[in-house]
Amino acid sequence: LPSSQQARDVAYQLHAYTNARSHQRAGPLIIERGEGPYVFDTAGKRYLDAMAGLWSAGLGFSEKRLIEAAHRQMQILPFYHTFASRSNGPSIALAEKLVKMSPVPMSKVFFTNSGSEANDTVLKLIAYRSNAAGQPQRKKVISRLRGYHGVTIGAASLTGFPDNHRSFDLPLPNIMHTGSPHFYKDSRAGESEETFATRRAEELESLIQREGADTIAAFFGEPVMGAGGVIVPPPTYWDKIQSVLKKHSILLVADEVICGFGRTGKMFGCETYNIAPDVIVVSKQLTSSYFPLSAIIMNDYMFEPIADESNKVGLLAHGFTGGGHPVGAAVALENLKLIEERGLIANVGRIGAYMQERLRTLVDHPLVGEVRGVGLIAAIELVLDKKRKVAATTPGDVGSIASRLLHERGIIVRNVDDALSICPPLIVNKDQIDELIDGITGMLHDLKAM
Ligand code: PLP
Repeated sequence: LPSSQQARDVAYQLHAYTNARSHQRAGPLIIERGEGPYVFDTAGKRYLDAMAGLWSAGLGFSEKRLIEAAHRQMQILPFYHTFASRSNGPSIALAEKLVKMSPVPMSKVFFTNSGSEANDTVLKLIAYRSNAAGQPQRKKVISRLRGYHGVTIGAASLTGFPDNHRSFDLPLPNIMHTGSPHFYKDSRAGESEETFATRRAEELESLIQREGADTIAAFFGEPVMGAGGVIVPPPTYWDKIQSVLKKHSILLVADEVICGFGRTGKMFGCETYNIAPDVIVVSKQLTSSYFPLSAIIMNDYMFEPIADESNKVGLLAHGFTGGGHPVGAAVALENLKLIEERGLIANVGRIGAYMQERLRTLVDHPLVGEVRGVGLIAAIELVLDKKRKVAATTPGDVGSIASRLLHERGIIVRNVDDALSICPPLIVNKDQIDELIDGITGMLHDLKAM
């Protein structure tokens, strides 16, 4: 029976990403408190959150230093905005920190509140830049199928899930999609990773030629696709994509909302894949999600036309009340300090390698088609037929049973169709990875017996 809190939730709350009525009938899992990488529900049951919330609670769920940083800043100045010529200390320090720690030369930061808002803002900055640079025809943007960039009108258009577009009359007309680097799902029989990467780059080139190179402003991509099912690109993929973009002077926007701050084993996913973007979008692990905050980090090539006083486009009329929030910025500064102080990038290197190695031992299981991942992010592709790489008639059926079975065992993962995504907090230790692998092994055993 649902508890009274669950019943009130069903009565009053419309949840994100649900088929509202049917999903809410059962009542939600209500999480009450957190401790390191674990969360506890209202009945006191403990879960190892192998998704770090939503790919985001890098420092886990009970980091006192983040709480104290927020509390301290709340007492000094709980809010001030950054419109026009106003600013606040923490936002200044964070902007400087992000510019200085960027993997490629960057010059300015614009603050927003969520990954979606940040990507929408980049779209507006790109349009503004093209107008300012006297290239009003350069407005089209390319992103990728299976890419996830958020849910606001622009960000949802960038997101490459056509099924989710239809119900909202999206994408916007200037946004188009090219193929994803999903080798396991999208490669042709006998194709090598190298040939597949070349084909993807050629498809991008053809799309650009078809649309007219001088009409394309930018390309958006996650270094490793997260919500699309943890899609790790073939080794030469980004080199090939970048050379097409460079040839046509197309801006590259790296959406590091999941990859940023250590997830792939380096501070930025761009470092892991040798990506040199013009713009980097960060959020999630920037504050370990203790406070909603996102940031757009841009280079001079992006910024200069926007700032050029002789441009005729007028005021940059864009910004959010909470953009550059001093409490969010203070939490982010402490979060970045802790990542450095505790050597968490090295921890991802060490524990991530251990997790990847142990996960790969599962690939011999009859229900596992592929294990992929890098650093502390991975996916297990469940299949019923290894040869045809399919799980069931309806994609997601097997994946959702598997995540329910893991849930019963006190482990939270997230299924994207039949791929189980794994993205634990950066603070996980070896014992917790063992707990995760044991849970998955047990789940596979139960699933096979069903
Ligand atoms: N970009 C990426 C790569 C994401 O994974 C997400 C969220 O999962 C977003 C953007 C959107 O962020 P938000 O949910 O904060 O709007």
